[in-house]
Amino acid sequence: MTDPARTVLAGLDAIRSDVEDLYRDLHRHPELGRREHRTAKKAADALRRFGYEVTEGVGGTGVIGVLANGDGPVVMARADMDALPVREQTGLPYASTVMVSDDGGEQPVMHACGHDVHVAGLVGCARLLAGAKDAWRGTFVALFQPSEENGDGADAMIDDGLTAKSPRPDVVLAQHVLPYPAGYVGTRPGSFLSAADSLRITLHGRGAHGSMPQAAVDPVVMAAMIVVRLQTVVSRELAATTPAVLTVGSIHAGSGPNIIPDSAVLQLNVRTYDDTTRSGVLRAIERIVRAECDASGAPKEPEFERTSSFPPTVNDEDATERVAGAFAAYFGDDAHTAEPQTASEDMSEIPRAFGAPFTYWAIGGIDPERYAEAERKGTVSQDIPVNHSATFAPVVQPTLDTGVSAMTVAALAWLGS
Ligand SMILES: [Zn+2]
Ligand SMILES: [Zn+2]
Repeated sequence: MTDPARTVLAGLDAIRSDVEDLYRDLHRHPELGRREHRTAKKAADALRRFGYEVTEGVGGTGVIGVLANGDGPVVMARADMDALPVREQTGLPYASTVMVSDDGGEQPVMHACGHDVHVAGLVGCARLLAGAKDAWRGTFVALFQPSEENGDGADAMIDDGLTAKSPRPDVVLAQHVLPYPAGYVGTRPGSFLSAADSLRITLHGRGAHGSMPQAAVDPVVMAAMIVVRLQTVVSRELAATTPAVLTVGSIHAGSGPNIIPDSAVLQLNVRTYDDTTRSGVLRAIERIVRAECDASGAPKEPEFERTSSFPPTVNDEDATERVAGAFAAYFGDDAHTAEPQTASEDMSEIPRAFGAPFTYWAIGGIDPERYAEAERKGTVSQDIPVNHSATFAPVVQPTLDTGVSAMTVAALAWLGS
């Protein structure tokens, strides 16, 4: 029996330099979330050249490419396209010098999260599958998602009719480049990435002269009590085995020493790993804030605004097992079980909209020798740049080969059987 993955990936040598060129081009021209016009056009034009049926402008700049190849499973592979407001300091010849103007003035833009690797990897995979249609059957859907970093790109595509614009997938696949040695692939069944919720809470008091507290309801005291009381959510309301983080990252009230202000604003960030814990922690925050406002005699109810929201990424057990098996067969010793990550992703909204299972895995992007050296010295956390840092730049190879092959091998675990 021939192995469909090896048959399809025999085409990798012929497309490698195109994938590398695309990657360097994307890296040099990063675009912030909701503005990925150039990146989306590159992806859409490529898919059309490979014979895909392409829908553009889904949820802003989202792209869907469908390659139907007879009866069989439908596999959707997703890549995010957006970059970050970071000034690149990698010193690479293809480093970004892009600046964009925003409300807050000029800001630098960099592919500091490696989404350019994901785009180039998926374009490569889409091309290989189109070039070896005899080796598989079914339908392959390549989906390029905007605005992952803002946590609203997947929802934007869904709100714009994604489920009507794409065939329903039997499985959704996605990958992220992380600070592991290049060549590494890591799967994880179950909880992989945390949920992240950011809240802005406005507390209303009643202002007065600082010398006349009897005329005031002091929102500074209210905010202080709330910050302290919120510390009990994780320590007193969750089991010791349930991980969660609740941080009050910002607190603003008042303008001078002798004025009691009218209001105070808190900004919170919450990380959890499953839906039950997530909703429990969010409910506890609201309960405590309302009760403290009541306790102070606040003249008006507090206001809650969810400023960003990422669901937990909980990989389907069966789909992950299938991909892990295919990775072990293809990558051998480079196939690992990945550790859970405290980062967050909105990718899982897409399979959720279709009611489809998904699996999301990690690939490494750090020069393996550099990584091994840091491991020997015990300085991985100091010496190895992580995603979102100004010096995070995956090595071109074997990162891109791994990105293309991992997505192809995973897709063929359904399409090639
Ligand atoms: Zn990121
Ligand atoms: Zn990312």
